[in-house]
Amino acid sequence: MEKLKILLITFFLLIFSQLIFSQKKPVDLIVSGGTLVTMNAQKRLIENGAVAIEKSEIVAVGTASEIAQKFAAKQTIDAQNKVVIPGLINTHTHIPMSLFRGISDDLDLQEWLTKYIFPAEAKNVTEDFVRVGTRLGLAEMIRGGTTTYCDMYYFEDAIADETAKAGVRGVLGETIIDFPVPDNKTHEEAMRYSERFVNKWKNHQLIVPALAPHAPYTVSTEHLKQIRKLSDKLNAAVVIHVAETQKEVSDISKQYGSRPVAYLAKIGFLNNRTIAAHVVFSDDEEMDLLKKFGVGIAHNPQSNMKLASGVAPIPQMLSKGLAVGLGTDGAASNNDLNMWEEMDTAAKLHKVFSGDPKVVGAMQAFEMATIRAARALHLENLIGSIETGKRADIAVVDFDGLHQTPRFNVYSSLVYSTKASDVRTVIINGRVVMLNRRLLTLDENDIKNTANAYRRKIITSLSQ
Ligand SMILES: [Zn+2]
Repeated sequence: MEKLKILLITFFLLIFSQLIFSQKKPVDLIVSGGTLVTMNAQKRLIENGAVAIEKSEIVAVGTASEIAQKFAAKQTIDAQNKVVIPGLINTHTHIPMSLFRGISDDLDLQEWLTKYIFPAEAKNVTEDFVRVGTRLGLAEMIRGGTTTYCDMYYFEDAIADETAKAGVRGVLGETIIDFPVPDNKTHEEAMRYSERFVNKWKNHQLIVPALAPHAPYTVSTEHLKQIRKLSDKLNAAVVIHVAETQKEVSDISKQYGSRPVAYLAKIGFLNNRTIAAHVVFSDDEEMDLLKKFGVGIAHNPQSNMKLASGVAPIPQMLSKGLAVGLGTDGAASNNDLNMWEEMDTAAKLHKVFSGDPKVVGAMQAFEMATIRAARALHLENLIGSIETGKRADIAVVDFDGLHQTPRFNVYSSLVYSTKASDVRTVIINGRVVMLNRRLLTLDENDIKNTANAYRRKIITSLSQ
């Protein structure tokens, strides 16, 4: 009798433990099937891969069958015949300038800025303008698989608000410049605004608030030093345009006795929270300074080409291991926010400029839109690759279009053949913001209507 009892208990214990151990862990979302491009340190590619997501985080990465054995999801996104990539990272924008898209083309930076952009901004930029332009830019970016962007403009608090509502990740900085702008009329006002802004957003899941002095030629040494001090106090990133044109290099050299990067290093401005946009002109010594201080660099090939600013020494920067990410710059100088074009252009521009087709390969170009861009924004511990523990920022992209057929190499296909319009589904911080090309957090028709209403206003304002 006693023996039977023990047998029965053992039997039930076995059944019970089987039940416990075979039970799948519940998660919110699984993306399953297709080619998974992780961009982790080993650059692992997983055919028929899958990603398990719980809340905002990636909790497992593996083959579809491995993930299916361990996890049960509330929602599953089928990625068969598709490619699953880390969300793209646009390291330099002025997002509300989407409303100035095509306002004037084919001019150099100084003429373009002083004759068109600065007057158009003075007459049109209000908080409402900024909100409308931001929504337009956000919708365009989500459609193209961009999940994080780095911005500097005015009314940045409204930009942060729209960005958070749309569920997009942003490193956002209020522009500080030594002349009156639409929101802040003095340097002191801009500094107070920036401090309030950083304190308001610093613990937000999606928004990384930053300080954004415009450039060494528009902000005095004294003010740059104050900004660096404030960024130390707030532990905030600093976004700045650096060495965009030859004219800036000669003006700064004349005024301060050093080229822009060397000058910023000399005044103690650079550190590992700095994000420098453009850096078209930097010599070997300056590149070593950028490396030494851990500065992130935003390379904007199309904007630099369109304004004929020059060609940044990207192959040299990459061989020195600098943190270079790609950016579109504002849509007024580009004229879009399309990271796929930037990848393709970056790869080709540096080949033709150096006369060496081996520089900036497809993998390196893709890296500059993902993990290296994350390094440029000092966010590599959170984003830029599909790895356990990182935020779930992921794009699912069609991979069977005619223009992608046949396919021999994943990175080649991504960089040289794939278009923004191939992006099908986008997840940011674990939230699906576009599903099968339908935007879930933004109203596309409303965005177009309000943007077109501003077009009429801008035309009228410039003729007055
Ligand atoms: Zn810019």
